[in-house]
Amino acid sequence: MSNNPETALSGQQEIILKGVAAAHGIAIGPAYVYSKHIPRVETKAIAPGEVESEIQRLRTATARAEKELQKILRFAEMKLGAQSAKIFEAQIMILGDTILMGAIEQRITKELKNAEYIVADEISKYRQLMMAAPDEYMHERAHELDDVMNRIIRNVQDQKLFSRLEGESIVVSETLTSADTIIFSRNQVLGYATDLGGVTSHAAILSRSLKIPAVVGLRNATKQIRTGDLLAIDGYAGTIAINPSATTKESLHQKAQRFKEFEERLAELAGLPAMTPDRRTIELSSNIESPDEIEFLRIQGSAGVGLYRTESLLIGKDSYPTEDEQFETYGKVADGLFPDAVIFRTFDVGGDKLAPGSVQEENPFLGWRGIRVMLDRPDLFLNQLRAILRASTRKNVRIMFPMVSNLWEVRRAKILLDQAKGELRGLGIPFDNRIKIGVMIEVPSAAVMAEEIAAEVDFLSIGTNDLIQYLLAVDRDNAAVAHLFQQFNPAVLRSIKHIIEAGHRRGIWVGMCGEMAGDPVATVLLVGLGIDELSVGPTFLPEIKKIVRSIKLKDAKRIAEKVLAFKTEEEIKEYLSSVVKNKVPEIPLEEELGA
Ligand code: PEP
Ligand code: MG
Repeated sequence: MSNNPETALSGQQEIILKGVAAAHGIAIGPAYVYSKHIPRVETKAIAPGEVESEIQRLRTATARAEKELQKILRFAEMKLGAQSAKIFEAQIMILGDTILMGAIEQRITKELKNAEYIVADEISKYRQLMMAAPDEYMHERAHELDDVMNRIIRNVQDQKLFSRLEGESIVVSETLTSADTIIFSRNQVLGYATDLGGVTSHAAILSRSLKIPAVVGLRNATKQIRTGDLLAIDGYAGTIAINPSATTKESLHQKAQRFKEFEERLAELAGLPAMTPDRRTIELSSNIESPDEIEFLRIQGSAGVGLYRTESLLIGKDSYPTEDEQFETYGKVADGLFPDAVIFRTFDVGGDKLAPGSVQEENPFLGWRGIRVMLDRPDLFLNQLRAILRASTRKNVRIMFPMVSNLWEVRRAKILLDQAKGELRGLGIPFDNRIKIGVMIEVPSAAVMAEEIAAEVDFLSIGTNDLIQYLLAVDRDNAAVAHLFQQFNPAVLRSIKHIIEAGHRRGIWVGMCGEMAGDPVATVLLVGLGIDELSVGPTFLPEIKKIVRSIKLKDAKRIAEKVLAFKTEEEIKEYLSSVVKNKVPEIPLEEELGA
């Protein structure tokens, strides 16, 4: 919190609150403090003769809630596309869950209590289970369940849905659900600021898709801000200023302008290849998880998709999608990208990613994850492999296996792939018989055995998010040890070098699809180490391309050699940051942009 003397004089003190940047952008405008109407639920006894009408009241309310959600779903589909809107389909499915709704009706009959009390009690049981799970993902889903519960109860109590903003506003709220985010976006919302929530919440994801600046995790913003207060939201730095001073406003305007110009300059690169001045081409592709992202990655100038996270198909589902359902998505992606290629990674469930039918584990990141799950469930694996194969007829599809920790897993996966091919052949269904297969190198044992693995596949892709977590024994999601999650730790860099060289010795290409691939400080080093492909979030693509186009391979090699001689991450980072600054002066580092 900072007090600014300039505003103190005018009686309105500037207060800065620090949160977490959830969606880029800057906005200045009046606050609208949204205190969500949480319906009060009281227990009321009902007479046996009232049971039928009580159940009818519940059914009418559920039908109304569904109608509201259908409306939100249609609006979200229109604004964001079908994939991003899927969260609302999941909420509609909860309303249609006959087991849940049946249990509620039974309890009304048996316990002779009012509908809203039973709804709240029954749904809270599920919610508590989800909140007790150790991962953030489940907590976010619990909030979605809350939203469904409140929606039913509000309708049982016959209360109206709020959805209007008066003029342009920055919405300040304790928390926002996906539905709130979408509903407000119909009005003149300038930004979102919430006390709670993380960057992985659906509301945060939606605001990024909607391009509405958002800052989450502000702790007590709702206590300090009143409706009508002037706010400035900085979705790059993750801060908001209450009563921003003239200086703050001016500096934010300038910052917005800098980002705009920077983004425009980068956009000019879209049609150009990612090639160094001495003609070394790096395949620069994107990490995506929905067909809706294809249009954006084209705008960004991507050469296809280096990582398609297929597990996104499982969000909000309580069972795995069928082969046909999967084929529909994979086919859309492969066709949409043609002639560029897509690498479908088979379901990487477990760890922080929830899987239908998954089990509670003491140590999920060291447990039933990725290829381990699929090899134990060949029925599910074959379904997915057949669906991917069916999408490969235009020969622009590749398959990649995650979380491989030994050679047996690679061999077993290949046997099952052959089986899937045989089944399709038997049915006369066409596919690319020479489909390329690759392995993610993200477990230290696979890194050590990279050459042996490389001998049996067509490509390797380094998954630094997990490789670093396992190599350095640092949980990738634990804020307490975040400073130890070191991309530039010499042990990490030596492993990367080893993997690239191992692949090259076996004559195959080696890429990287972890977050490190999109870090501008790492690009020169990775090019110098001989990386063939970088697959990055499409937003980072132009920046990385700019760097590749600015440095000669021979200089990058020299720089990489120097980096490998350093013994600490601090020295390496400092050196590489100065390289980017000197060699590619147009690329501002994050801190120079003030992010
Ligand atoms: C990785 O581990 O680097 C990776 C790309 O996979 P994910 O982040 O999906 O685990
Ligand atoms: Mg991974």
